[in-house]
Amino acid sequence: MSILLSPDIRTVILLLFAGNLLAIVMLSAYRRKEGLELAYRRYIAGKIFQALAWMLIGARGTIPDWLSADVGNGSLYVGFAFEGLAFVLLERREKKFTRLYAAVTITGIFLFSMFSTTPALRVALSSASVGSITAMTAILMLYSIQASRLRVLVACFYIAFSIMLACRVAYAVLYPNQISVFQNGPIQAFTYLMTFAFTLVGGAGFLLLLKEQSDDALAIAVNELQIRETLLTNIFNTSSVAIFLANDDGYISMANQRMAEMFGRTIDSLIGSPYLDCVAEAQKDEAHDQLQKLLSSEISFLKLEREYSRPDGSHFWGQLTATHMHDGQKVGHQLVGVIADITDLKLAEVNMRKMAHHDPLTGLANRALFSDRLQQAMMVAKRDQTRFALLYIDLDKFKLVNDSFGHQVGDKLLQEVALRISRCVRDSDIVARVGGDEFVVLLRSVNTTENALLVAEKVRISHAKNFKIEEHDLAISCSIGVAMYPDDGTSETELSAKSDEAMYKAKHGGRDQVQFATITTTNNSL
Ligand code: GH3
Ligand code: MG
Repeated sequence: MSILLSPDIRTVILLLFAGNLLAIVMLSAYRRKEGLELAYRRYIAGKIFQALAWMLIGARGTIPDWLSADVGNGSLYVGFAFEGLAFVLLERREKKFTRLYAAVTITGIFLFSMFSTTPALRVALSSASVGSITAMTAILMLYSIQASRLRVLVACFYIAFSIMLACRVAYAVLYPNQISVFQNGPIQAFTYLMTFAFTLVGGAGFLLLLKEQSDDALAIAVNELQIRETLLTNIFNTSSVAIFLANDDGYISMANQRMAEMFGRTIDSLIGSPYLDCVAEAQKDEAHDQLQKLLSSEISFLKLEREYSRPDGSHFWGQLTATHMHDGQKVGHQLVGVIADITDLKLAEVNMRKMAHHDPLTGLANRALFSDRLQQAMMVAKRDQTRFALLYIDLDKFKLVNDSFGHQVGDKLLQEVALRISRCVRDSDIVARVGGDEFVVLLRSVNTTENALLVAEKVRISHAKNFKIEEHDLAISCSIGVAMYPDDGTSETELSAKSDEAMYKAKHGGRDQVQFATITTTNNSL
């Protein structure tokens, strides 16, 4: 008992040194979890400084006093500060506390080196410094964002240690002659044994907290993963575009509901089938090449318009975006593809293109397209030294139809007239509507005025039969002006003006006739 109450102080200090070594070994055996390595390393550093401190303090008398007292105590403060900093990291409160620990430690070292003139002052100053550092650590733990029961327990232990050190300071101040570091006695024994216990229990507590923290981090990570997975699954299932994954053979390994709807198949029938099965026959070869490039990582991204087919034989247009996935996990997904149905868009595009060049009422070429074709025809005729004819057709007294039967009937009549004119010419010729009741015809294959006259007459006579529009039986004739290339002009403006002029000649000549720009041929008689 007396040995326990008054042990040899050097032995006890050696015990403290050993205790710290034990803590270091204990910690080193622990497999640290990712993200907490720094806290772990700080705690070990703390223990190394403390072990060094006890070694220096224990060697008092055999080494210079400044080394034992100043450097020894300094290492002790630094050791406790590092230990505290490990907790700072666990609590994720880096900056402010790091500075606070540094300030308290430096102040402690400064005060000790300046004022530790007597053994009692040494005891008081070192206990005050270590006590304030451990009290700070305890407060930090108690104000933790997630103060678990384990944290409170470890904190209580730190508080008890700080209180003990505070009592030691008070004792040293009240009874300065009765205390010094190497004085045997129950108070000293109690102090050192408690420090020894603190070293071991504190180390175990830290390890448990470390584990608790990494378990928490793991639980949070798992939870976050689950939330993300749910989110992705929802996006996958409710997406308005088809999404699929394919393996390195180009077989579909995952497909969403929209893909099944888009292709008129079930998800089960899609999974395990080659992606190329979905592509329209005409594009299979090209799609195969692109797929190989993606799978072999020659390209990593693809965005194109592709024609797809359904099992019922119907086709649709899709915009495919495919990305090569670097499947490090080898879970069998090599590429992810997204298909948006753009059939409506494609149709609208075709319509728009058509509308830009065609008359919406009759479907005939409009002035812009006609002008383009006329330029082409002039170039060809110039090169080949051939001729062609241009007909300018205007309906006679068309306004009357509008006025008598309404615009709608007028429109239908215009559509019928367009049809009749088109039937009189060859496919290689161009018929255009260039105004209200005005049409132009480019007769590419006509080389002579005689032939031009024949076709023009055919057009005129095609109007002879009444038009049956709704319940009305309408009679309408047309006046036609003819200009020949290159005889009447070698530019679009000249040719148009000449054919227009000729058409007016026909109007003034009594309508329902054909007039040439240069030779006058009235053909009511033909
Ligand atoms: P003319 O024999 O002198 O040519 O007499 P016209 O009544 O045919 O008069 P004109 O050629 O000068 O006028 C054509 C009319 O066609 C004018 C306009 O009211 C009508 N019109 C123009 N565009 C359209 C259209 O898109 N639909 C219909 N129904 N009528 C149109
Ligand atoms: Mg007219």
